[in-house]
Amino acid sequence: MDRYDVVVIGAGFAGLTAARDLREAGKSVLVLEARDRIGGSTWYRPGALGGFGLEMGGTWIVPEQTHVWAEVQRYGVPVKDSELPERMTWSDHGEVLDTLLPVPAEEYGALEHAVRSLIEAGERLDPMRPLSEQGLEDLDVTIRQWADNVGLTGNARELLMSWFCGCANANEDTGSALDVIRWLASMDNSLWGMVQASVLGYTFVNGTVSLAEAIRQDGGADLELSSPVRAVEADDEGVTVTYEGGQVRADRVLMTTAVGVWQDIRFTPELSAAKQAMSKENHAGQGQKVWALARNVPEDISGFGWGTSFDYVGAMETTDEGVVLVCFAPEHDRVDATDLADVQRAVREFAPEAEVVGAESHDWVNDEYNKGLWSTFRAGQFAKYEIAVGEPEGRVHFAGSHTARRWRTFIDGAIESGKRGAAEILAAR
Ligand SMILES: Cc1cc2nc3c(=O)[nH]c(=O)nc-3n(C[C@H](O)[C@H](O)[C@H](O)COP(=O)(O)OP(=O)(O)OC[C@H]3O[C@@H](n4cnc5c(N)ncnc54)[C@H](O)[C@@H]3O)c2cc1C
Repeated sequence: MDRYDVVVIGAGFAGLTAARDLREAGKSVLVLEARDRIGGSTWYRPGALGGFGLEMGGTWIVPEQTHVWAEVQRYGVPVKDSELPERMTWSDHGEVLDTLLPVPAEEYGALEHAVRSLIEAGERLDPMRPLSEQGLEDLDVTIRQWADNVGLTGNARELLMSWFCGCANANEDTGSALDVIRWLASMDNSLWGMVQASVLGYTFVNGTVSLAEAIRQDGGADLELSSPVRAVEADDEGVTVTYEGGQVRADRVLMTTAVGVWQDIRFTPELSAAKQAMSKENHAGQGQKVWALARNVPEDISGFGWGTSFDYVGAMETTDEGVVLVCFAPEHDRVDATDLADVQRAVREFAPEAEVVGAESHDWVNDEYNKGLWSTFRAGQFAKYEIAVGEPEGRVHFAGSHTARRWRTFIDGAIESGKRGAAEILAAR
């Protein structure tokens, strides 16, 4: 049986970064990846819709995400800033408002209160440290509960809740408000910065795969694709990893898969009770991202809605065949992405004349190697699992964006966690 210093499970940004850093430190490394491609929760499909390349998963980055930004600089990977829309589109239960602000004049005070409540909450957080150690339990509640607690009313309440759901990729009764407020704190409490970090930041000119591939090539670790891991058995001398296609021994293992996937792998000894529970509960990020090709929509539409199927509809590119739109919903079955008529119905809540001529989506929720989109904690999960998800268990270490601090759930968090995981293994005796 082959033996390596380290076997890394998963070739997303966490796994690729860790493998590179471990190789740089002179370790022998094998990366085992279940899929037939690298990139994990990022997946670039060139020319997929109207000749435009689609990011089916992770897409935007901002300079404040210092880990991914440093990698972009290191490899000279081209990125481009988003073009700003002329105006925002607000959809109130499918009715497009023609007002500049999303609320009628008599609710300006309520809007101001909502913005102030959000920024006051953000200012309580230090995103560089574990949030579960900062006395923030009152924020680790559902999005709806937080809106109730701070007394949000009117359209401002609906918009903010919908915006939170969009950021959380979770509905108002599951996602932790704290995990969304963290975005704001991570952007130094700039509301505009938070918008940029979600859907108006920088994108990769040649797709996220351009950075993933640069990191992979630099590291030069061995890589086996289409090799799902089934068992991880540790003993006093090392770890045996069983995957479809073979078995391998290693001194140490770095797990980087999504939390929901842990329960499908046989660990010996068993994972801690907290990790087992987290894997069964899974995270709240169970929404959908849908790409649409549409005619008769504004070329720079950037629409936020409440009481709508999608909570965001935004233009990414104009092609000869129409405008390429990226759309998000906080539940994975709100829109049937395989049915153009249903996608059109949902887009028309933002652009009533829209004619949808194409659509693409990946069902991350029912994808056995993801079981969700980005890993927003459910309300209450910070206290129970924030530390536990990243704790090593003997010779088995844990990384992945769900274990990161400032930018957990982002590409940046994945890279941060990969660096931390590699350093942890190098320090282990
Ligand atoms: C639709 C969507 C939109 C997003 N938008 C953004 C965004 O705009 N900006 C941003 O920064 N982030 C975004 N994210 C989040 C970001 O993509 C992730 O946080 C990040 O890519 C996670 O990287 P990771 O390495 O931690 O995990 P992953 O990329 O999930 O990597 C884990 C790897 O493990 C593999 N694996 C699973 N099970 C096994 C097994 N049994 N054996 C072997 N391999 C296995 C998986 O196939 C996968 O390749 C988005 C995610 C999604 C899904």
